[in-house]
Amino acid sequence: MEFSYLTRKNELEKLDGESFDVVIVGGGIVGAGIANLLSANRLKILLIDKSDFASGTSSNSSKLIHGGLRYLSQGHLLLTRQLLKERNYLLKNLDIVRKLSFDILVDESSWKKSSLYFGLFLYNLLGGSWRMPHFQKDGYSYPGYQGRFSYEDASTNDALLVVYNVVSAVMGGAIAINYLEATGFKETTDGVETILVNRFGDGTYRVRSKIVVNASGPWINAIYGHYTSKNIENLRLSKGSHLILRSEKFNIDRAVAFRSHLDRRQMFIIPKGEVVIVGTTDMFINSPDSSEISREERNYILDSVRKIFPSLQEQDVVGSYSGVRPLYGAGDDPGKVTRDFHIELTGKMISIMGVKITDYRRATRMISKQIGTVLNRELVLRENPKVLYKRGNLDPIRAAIMQECALTVDDVVRRRLGYYYESVDQGSSRKEEISRMLSEVLGR
Ligand SMILES: Cc1cc2nc3c(=O)[nH]c(=O)nc-3n(C[C@H](O)[C@H](O)[C@H](O)COP(=O)(O)OP(=O)(O)OC[C@H]3O[C@@H](n4cnc5c(N)ncnc54)[C@H](O)[C@@H]3O)c2cc1C
Repeated sequence: MEFSYLTRKNELEKLDGESFDVVIVGGGIVGAGIANLLSANRLKILLIDKSDFASGTSSNSSKLIHGGLRYLSQGHLLLTRQLLKERNYLLKNLDIVRKLSFDILVDESSWKKSSLYFGLFLYNLLGGSWRMPHFQKDGYSYPGYQGRFSYEDASTNDALLVVYNVVSAVMGGAIAINYLEATGFKETTDGVETILVNRFGDGTYRVRSKIVVNASGPWINAIYGHYTSKNIENLRLSKGSHLILRSEKFNIDRAVAFRSHLDRRQMFIIPKGEVVIVGTTDMFINSPDSSEISREERNYILDSVRKIFPSLQEQDVVGSYSGVRPLYGAGDDPGKVTRDFHIELTGKMISIMGVKITDYRRATRMISKQIGTVLNRELVLRENPKVLYKRGNLDPIRAAIMQECALTVDDVVRRRLGYYYESVDQGSSRKEEISRMLSEVLGR
């Protein structure tokens, strides 16, 4: 099935004046998951993103599919259990979600050995395994190191998980258009009119729907404000940044979890192809668009990780990326605000915030249930959303352009093939080839 610049162009030609059951604003993991579930239920769906699919937080996460040991340490047992259940489902059913082994380091900054022993036992148990944690004294040799525990979690290509859900939604009959921005809403007698602007070409479009889903992640208040002229109270934004470093000085084939000696925050070192990803920071910010790593964050990550790998230097950094979390809750410490999601129904708009990638299927089912109630439709939620799309044997760059609607070199390098996050040159050696293939298809 083709899903490309050309099918996008055809859909845009027919779009103005169209009516849908649901318009979904935001093609991150939440919007993509909802579009996938609802189109499988034969609802008429329009999914849009102002930029590329997954260009927001969903391509800038730590790429872990996990229950979150930290949430367990904060007493969120039920959340951890639910996340681990989702992790297990994704591991079993999706080949882009893979097992990842972790070493959790014990030193003077870490949790106590006894707490870790008990915590990991509980974590395994909540994840359905009776495995007893095993303490080993080998592995690392930095000052203060006492030993390590090992445990298993999972990781994925976050953006690809989104794209697979988008393509599955299209296979189910949804219309999905990237680079199409929602700029305004108007209440109508039977729903909402949404105004859309093409950001990859020209054109303004008006579409009607019975309900609008606001799945715009960190931009949630902008969309909510266009519809209600108000803000969602208690919503705050927190930025998290990662450094991408050459893997040579790490020489690890397992991920490492440790607590920074600077402030005892938990951090991860995750091997990915030719590089390792180290993160993350957690700091309140005011604008969803301020998502560049700051000098302060860069130094914090480097200083934290140098405690364990002292030979690291600035030159080992090949890149960085940052994502913004919309958090719902009060408190001065972003690390302590709940990581469970929140749904808000206002007139004919449902807004959803704070969904972890790991949890997207549970969140998607919960929001779809509410949509079913508003539309008075019985929806099949069990086992949904399912990922039906697979790339197959096609050349991956061609698949990205012809089957996954990549429109720019950046779409391919960052959000289809992951070169940006997994290779030392961040995909620059492939850019010419990608550009050539894109020109063939786009005709320019
Ligand atoms: C640093 C960091 C690390 C994380 N690590 C993990 C992890 O390891 N595992 C995990 O499970 N979770 C993790 N998370 C959480 C997870 O990444 C996010 O909660 C999740 O990606 C949010 O998805 P979303 O669809 O709500 O938002 P987004 O992915 O941000 O999607 C929102 C989309 O809406 C679009 N949009 C905005 N305004 C408009 C408009 N006007 N018109 C059209 N489209 C619009 C944007 O372009 C964007 O693509 C992490 C989060 C951060 C910040």
